[in-house]
This record gives sequence, C-alpha cells and structure tokens, in this order.
Amino acid sequence: MPNGAAIARPPAERPRQFGRVGFLTAFARGLSRRCPRCDRGALLAGYIAMPPRCASCGLDFEPCRADDAPAYFTILIVGHIVVPGLLLMERALHPETWLQMAIWLPATLFLTLALLPFVKGATIAAIWASKQG
Ligand SMILES: [Zn+2]
Repeated sequence: MPNGAAIARPPAERPRQFGRVGFLTAFARGLSRRCPRCDRGALLAGYIAMPPRCASCGLDFEPCRADDAPAYFTILIVGHIVVPGLLLMERALHPETWLQMAIWLPATLFLTLALLPFVKGATIAAIWASKQG
C-alpha cells in the first residue's frame, strides 16, 4: 500500500451511523410505518405484525412492543369521530335508528381497521423514541 494510506471503503459498505432522532421525527416515521431510526425499513410486516428487527438498519423492535396500546388509541380516535358524527346527525336529521346503525357501525369498523396499522407504527416509534439514550 503506497505511503501507508488506508483504502477508503465505498459509502455503501460503511456501517451506517445514526444520530439521535427527535421524538416528532420518530413519531412521523412510525406513523408512516417505517423504521423510526433509519426511515428505510418497514416497521410492520403485513397488516400489524411487528418484525423482530429492522431489515434495513437492524434496530431491534422487541423492546418496543406496544401490546394493546395501539388498539386503545385507535378506539379513542375513532370514538371521537363516530360519536360526534352520530350525535350531530341525530340532532340535525333525526334519522331512523336502523339508518344510524347502517351508517355508523360500518364507519366504525372501517375507520378502526384503516387506522390501526398507522397508530401501531406511531406507538412503536414513540416507545422507541422515549427509550433513546
Ligand atoms: Zn431501520
């Protein structure tokens, strides 16, 4: 090797260094279901299954298990959408009960299933962000 100079590895072979990630940045990454640290790997495998680690940076997701918190937060959010909607419709239009049920029960189911993966991603990211040293 001439002059003892080290051969620089190309950037792709260098281990990636990650600085501290802010809470809101991690939360936004989790909300989009991406790894809160690297923003590249998928935070969820499939609908809401959590892989053991990030496929891109290797972040261990196991210490960030969210358990029932995403379901709780999702119900909280959906309840704050559906209940006022139902009450406003009742006050304004006085529809039949069957019509209210035909509208708001499917809306509740759809909103819950649609929001759950995003809320789970955000919850896992929030847990990870709060555990950063
Ligand atoms: Zn990652």
